[in-house]
Amino acid sequence: MSTSVLVINCGSSSIKYALVSERREDRIFGLAENLGSADARIKGVTTGGEALELSIPHADHEKALETILERLSHHNPQAIGHRVVHGGTLTKAELLTPEIIERIREATPLAPLHNPAHLVGIDATMRLFPELPQVAVFDTAFHQTMPSHAYRYALPKFLYTHHNVRRYGFHGTSHAYVSERGSMLAGSFKQGGWLTAHLGNGSSTCAIWNGQSVDTSMGLTPLEGVVMGTRSGDVDPSIHSFLASNLGWDIYKIDKMLNSQSGLLGLSDLSNDMRTLIEASEQGNEDAALAIEVFCYRLAKSLAGLSCGLPRIDGLFFTGGIGENSAYIREKTVSYLPHFGFNLSKDLNNNLKRGTEGRIDHGTGPQIWVVPTDEEGRIAKETEHVVDEVKAAAKKSDAYAAIA
Ligand code: ADP
Repeated sequence: MSTSVLVINCGSSSIKYALVSERREDRIFGLAENLGSADARIKGVTTGGEALELSIPHADHEKALETILERLSHHNPQAIGHRVVHGGTLTKAELLTPEIIERIREATPLAPLHNPAHLVGIDATMRLFPELPQVAVFDTAFHQTMPSHAYRYALPKFLYTHHNVRRYGFHGTSHAYVSERGSMLAGSFKQGGWLTAHLGNGSSTCAIWNGQSVDTSMGLTPLEGVVMGTRSGDVDPSIHSFLASNLGWDIYKIDKMLNSQSGLLGLSDLSNDMRTLIEASEQGNEDAALAIEVFCYRLAKSLAGLSCGLPRIDGLFFTGGIGENSAYIREKTVSYLPHFGFNLSKDLNNNLKRGTEGRIDHGTGPQIWVVPTDEEGRIAKETEHVVDEVKAAAKKSDAYAAIA
């Protein structure tokens, strides 16, 4: 990367930022949190790895972005890349124009918690830095290569044709980065069939054939698929009518339960944090042990299911906070997949240093790798690519105008 790109991820009361340049070690990053409250603050790392903590009482998104940019302006960022969760049917990163902003707004019903917050951030940066090119990079875009038999639900057709009800998939930037990086490490860049398991607070799996997503575990929303920190993943959809009829719950209560009170937290009745659960299970907590078992079994089941999208399985990549750091979860998950020929090396798995990439199988059967994700790096790269393309197109049209 020849220039630096400011990557912004706006949530409803927080903003994650990273200034990404050529060398990963030079990255400056941080988090503005509790926005709108007396306790609003920015926490992060500045040049040279120094810690930053700055109180910005009652700052809103715009004020926080202004403060962040003021501190970073001497690094002269060349562009801003916004992480946007839902891009509807947009298939790639796009320069932010009024039309693209409208498309993000139109996708709001599909990501009601995320897209409005992204729009607030976009609105603020457009006003503050009108001279900087700004790009939206979508979590959904990578999965737009899924075939229709993978993205359609078995529901009445008009729900798809008139209301866009289909599977979209999320975590696309991570699955794209990890599968590209991993296949490169394996010596077959963007070739062959790979499975990825992104395991963080939100978790999802993906099947990738020759560099393209062919299926993924998340669907219309990020609730579908594997067990997550507080999200249930797949349940019988009749749970809604069961709870409504028997417990008198309304749709909002059910939605909240499935998104915020389920998953590892719901099963264990203790925590959504995998580290806490592993410790509790080691101390004999049976609910924690069951939560871990369900997590790994459902994850293996998802990977096995997604393998139907691949003509051949070359290997599996683990990533995300859990996938990168927990040898225990990796081993337990792979133990449910012996029939695919996966042959994990306990030594390589246990000895892999935290935060590093490496191969952890015996060298027979499909490969198994740990590949730390880099969503910010990927967003910066895609942003730079879009800006370069736009500049090249502008040059070309100038040249035509000069000839004409
Ligand atoms: P997010 O989706 O919010 O980005 P992360 O990718 O940081 O989340 O993943 C957070 C999860 O990773 C938590 O459940 C945390 O407990 C888990 N995790 C981090 N380190 C370890 C570890 N050494 N062993 C097990 N789980 C870990």
